[in-house]
Amino acid sequence: MRPEILFPLFAPATSLSGVGPRFAKLFETLTGGPAVLDLCWHLPSGLIDRRYAPPLAEALPGRIATLTVTVDEHRAPPTKRQPYRIACHDATGTIELVFFHAHRDYLMKMLPPGQIRVVSGKVEVFNDRLQMTHPDHIAGPEAAESVQTVEPVYPLTAGLTLKTVAKAVHAALQRVPKLPEWLDPALKKREAWEDWHAALARSHAPHEESDLAPLSPHRRRLAYDELLANQLAIALVRDRQLKQRGRVLKGDGRLCDKVVASLPFQLTGSQRMALAEIAGDMAAEHRMLRLLQGDVGSGKTVVALLAMLTAVEAGCQAALMAPTEILARQHFNTIEPLARVAGVGIALLTGRDKGKARQAILEGLAAGTTAIVVGTHALFQEDVAFKDLGMAVIDEQHRFGVHQRLTLTGKGKAVDVLVMTATPIPRTLMLTAYGDMDVSRLTERPPGRQPIETRTLPLDRLPEVVDGIDRALQRGAQVYWICPLVEESENSDLAAADDRHRTLQQRFGGKVGLVHGRMKGPEKDAVMASFAAGDLAVLVATTVVEVGVDVPNATVMVIEHAERFGLAQLHQLRGRVGRGSGKSSCLLLWQGPLGETARARLQILRETDDGFRIAEEDLKLRGAGELLGTRQSGLPEFRLADLAVHDDLLATARDDARLILDRDPELAGERGKALRVLLYLFERDAAVKYLRSG
Ligand code: ADP
Ligand code: MG
Repeated sequence: MRPEILFPLFAPATSLSGVGPRFAKLFETLTGGPAVLDLCWHLPSGLIDRRYAPPLAEALPGRIATLTVTVDEHRAPPTKRQPYRIACHDATGTIELVFFHAHRDYLMKMLPPGQIRVVSGKVEVFNDRLQMTHPDHIAGPEAAESVQTVEPVYPLTAGLTLKTVAKAVHAALQRVPKLPEWLDPALKKREAWEDWHAALARSHAPHEESDLAPLSPHRRRLAYDELLANQLAIALVRDRQLKQRGRVLKGDGRLCDKVVASLPFQLTGSQRMALAEIAGDMAAEHRMLRLLQGDVGSGKTVVALLAMLTAVEAGCQAALMAPTEILARQHFNTIEPLARVAGVGIALLTGRDKGKARQAILEGLAAGTTAIVVGTHALFQEDVAFKDLGMAVIDEQHRFGVHQRLTLTGKGKAVDVLVMTATPIPRTLMLTAYGDMDVSRLTERPPGRQPIETRTLPLDRLPEVVDGIDRALQRGAQVYWICPLVEESENSDLAAADDRHRTLQQRFGGKVGLVHGRMKGPEKDAVMASFAAGDLAVLVATTVVEVGVDVPNATVMVIEHAERFGLAQLHQLRGRVGRGSGKSSCLLLWQGPLGETARARLQILRETDDGFRIAEEDLKLRGAGELLGTRQSGLPEFRLADLAVHDDLLATARDDARLILDRDPELAGERGKALRVLLYLFERDAAVKYLRSG
């Protein structure tokens, strides 16, 4: 249960005075959460310095200034369209305050002639005269000091003004309690960090631009807290997993040897190494939780199959789960003939299997006659039961939530888990998602692969590109043509893909196919199948081909509006070609003007096809949240930490978390109790459940 000391922070924003349901809703849009705490986490992105308070004769145009003046004359304009002007002076000079759409009564009240007032805003010069348009503050002379400060500037959203947000955040900060210190004293001292509440307060009260920097000590402290909560939660879950005894699954090689002998190629060194690591985990007493990371085309599927066969040799069943129907089918088609060589029963289960066919598959799984099943989310369904599931391979893990992973592994006893990903997740991000999960990497490419020639061209050279495609088709090549999917308007994107399909058809006739996300499964499969079979020479697609599709004869990849794609995504798409022995090329068509980031992205792709380097660069260019496409990534998002700049803190947090749990595994000591508060503060409630209550 959440500790009482945190209750005020988790109260809804509406509990703050002046915040009604309408604003609360806008705040939620703005901050991503409904609570007072969410407002506290909403850090300023800029500041307005109102400390500059010159006499009028010295006031510099263009600067924000706080001026103490005597109000002279109100000059109402002859027509509504002209501004209302109020003349003011001090001992050194004069200035006019300017108001559009003014209400005379209001201004008379705020700025009565003959009175001294403090006004703050931007000083301008108009017709050689000093003026200030719509001052941000108008106050009596006694308030000069409170106006003459530095104001934080917050990111806003439609419907909210800076004043409204600043006021609400200010009110939220009044609720911040002093929390017990969870930091290691030595670390705190070394970094010269303040207490949590002081660091939070300072982050909201910048004095200089440098106070806004993510590397300022107070912001680093907040980031560290968040990362520590993340790493501690992961370490707790993982400790618990390791404590659960796994099963000893030892293969005898009788199935694997047959399959390896039947392959038309030799396994690469890194495939062999990965298999040895996996076999080692499976044979050990603890449960396996291993990530198999390999760039597109590095040959993960065969590794997965051999790992599953090892489980079958040891007498249990194995499941391979893919994120999409197309991928599941493709895995199945690769694996089935090989499983047959080994004499192993295999089935495919997707959402499309219904009625009797589905029933037959389920019976095979329940009876154990089906040793290996390949499938989609359909494997999670409640009525899917195994005789004895011992191992699960999960492909493209980041598309599945952790919850789903647990659901599948719950279908067996102490299931060993192998996660496969083609997304080269940088080490930094790996840590946040999996902690110290064991990793096998396929670093070698299968031999005989040719490098992909990558070129970038402005979109207005499209006719040349189409001519080039024509020549490639005459040589018998197959071509992917990717049209982007911009999320705001799926319809217009579809229209763009449709259009491109039509124009290419006009030129190349019936050899051009179209596949997109709105198509029904069987329809999509049919198009993919005829492309794979070579009946279609050009496949126009939205990004549905992104993951895993394997058509070795396809050697040309055209990506329209490449500037709209992320680096990792472009790399994945490019990996669809260069899978056979033919020379492949990738054309990135861009539309200007290109921003600096887009330009850098295209440049990196021209330079390298090393997925890991690309992922690291992507992290630098974009920040972690966006790296894999936030929504589908399943990776944690941070609110205070930015892994592009705080990655050193992540490593420290990991070591810290390890040390904490070694010393105080139940978080029962003084610091342990404070750390529990930290876990709740960052809503890692689930992790606390692993602890004995204390
Ligand atoms: P990934 O899933 O890692 O993108 P795949 O497993 O789909 O890659 O393999 C890509 C292609 O490489 C497949 O056609 C596969 O048969 C082939 N392949 C796998 N391992 C090797 C190898 N050691 N030598 C040659 N080709 C291989
Ligand atoms: Mg694959």
